[in-house]
Amino acid sequence: MAYVISDECIGCGACEAECPVSAISAGDGKYVIDADTCIDCGACAGTCPVSAPNPQD
Ligand code: SF4
Ligand code: SF4
Repeated sequence: MAYVISDECIGCGACEAECPVSAISAGDGKYVIDADTCIDCGACAGTCPVSAPNPQD
């Protein structure tokens, strides 16, 4: 399990600073989460102004 950032991402970067394991980085047009690093804490989802990060099935 890991969180995934949807295309709703506006690239604000707020989530990157909140991630306790530094799994988030700037990608191509949006921010991306490294699934192997994410510990599924949900902090990014709580910080995002557009609710772009969501838990993956
Ligand atoms: Fe980082 Fe937690 Fe978001 Fe995973 S769910 S990317 S560990 S802030
Ligand atoms: Fe994208 Fe939301 Fe992260 Fe901002 S906080 S970079 S909009 S996922």
